[in-house]
Amino acid sequence: MNVADSEIITSILLKKGFILSNHIENAKIILFNSCSIRKKSELTIKNQIDKIKYLKNNGSLIGLIGCFSKSFKESLLNEKKIDFFINPDSYREIENKIYNKNIVKNFYKRKKETYENIIPYKKLDKKITTFLSITRGCNNMCTFCIVPFTRGREVSNNPFLIVEECKRLQNLGYKEITLLGQNVDSYYWIDNNNLSFNFANLLELIAKKLPTVRIRFSTSNPHDMSNEVLKIISKYDNICNHIHLPVQSGSNKILKLMNRKYSREEYLFLIKKIRKLIPNCSISHDIMTGFCNEEDNDHLDTLHLMDEIKYNYGYMFSYSPRPGTYAYNNLIDNVPKNIKKKRLQEIIKLQNEHSLYRMKEFLEKTQKVLIEGTSKKSNNYWYGRNSQNIVVVFPKKINLKIGNIALVNVKKFTSSTLIGEAIK
Ligand code: SAH
Repeated sequence: MNVADSEIITSILLKKGFILSNHIENAKIILFNSCSIRKKSELTIKNQIDKIKYLKNNGSLIGLIGCFSKSFKESLLNEKKIDFFINPDSYREIENKIYNKNIVKNFYKRKKETYENIIPYKKLDKKITTFLSITRGCNNMCTFCIVPFTRGREVSNNPFLIVEECKRLQNLGYKEITLLGQNVDSYYWIDNNNLSFNFANLLELIAKKLPTVRIRFSTSNPHDMSNEVLKIISKYDNICNHIHLPVQSGSNKILKLMNRKYSREEYLFLIKKIRKLIPNCSISHDIMTGFCNEEDNDHLDTLHLMDEIKYNYGYMFSYSPRPGTYAYNNLIDNVPKNIKKKRLQEIIKLQNEHSLYRMKEFLEKTQKVLIEGTSKKSNNYWYGRNSQNIVVVFPKKINLKIGNIALVNVKKFTSSTLIGEAIK
């Protein structure tokens, strides 16, 4: 999402006459675009800003953009580490912020900003996969999450403009587009004549209009994912068979405290439906451990849920309270650090076992792999992903090139990579 936002910001600035610098040392203005979804990302951005302090001392302006809490941005401004900051709904005003160095007012009162009519700037660096935001903000109000406070309420982009942008991306040479939103399943757009589109309608429209482009999407919310969406995924070959379905916890008590709006049982039922309607679908997760009041039996519930599902892969975190959220204001962060760490390690270890289990299922099977480039580990190997979003590497063949779909027979695997041989 930050990558997609940076493309919008770049586009706005280029139109105003700014030029991109080829090296940070030459830049008069340096913009950091990141987020503070977890405490760790805040620390990372602080370190990066500190690293280029000498450039600020030499007169470069430093700006912070993206999903940060008001208090974090203001503290960096007060410490004079940055010159200005801009919230995610004010990028159109970026030129003013740069020249006036004024801070954003109305932090919690957003207008509906979708950046309609701003064509994201694409680097054209031979990449063949790209991102496109279809919604901004989030209405879910999970108690741990800062997104609704930094990105505001959810707004959906015009489906016809989305399709137009997809076509432009296709013409630029992109072969795969990932549709982005905090909760893509709640995409909803309606015009003055009551013509309406939900996420299933949007997916179908794009799949039909761009039959040769691969379509992915992220993130799905278990509470909002509909049968209709699953049917559309199974109906169109160009919609990839992968669903990222953050569960956060396997304990009903914790899900309730998180305000996730689904139960463990409902989540498992949804997984069953996915497996039935899209048999080849890979499923990945986000799990957050150590949330307020999480006890050993809640943690076990999470491990058991993982065992039941055996996800292909996942992103795993330990909870860090975020200022402004419900949990920060009303719940106690009472799981000790060492317990959070231990539980996280157990979750990661189990996921690793499950990843291996799932990778084995691909053995000796033929995968359609979109070639994205040369493998980082060897110049003699191509790197790409299959429909399930699993990385596949295989020895180069003369008649293949970046952007081709290769048919690859899987011979070996690690927990994160399939290794095979191209047969076509
Ligand atoms: N919109 C997505 C979440 C995007 S944030 C959803 O609803 O699922 C990506 C992940 O960061 C979340 O799924 C969660 O696992 C993690 N995360 C969010 N807030 C966090 C916090 N306060 N501490 C630790 N991890 C957090």
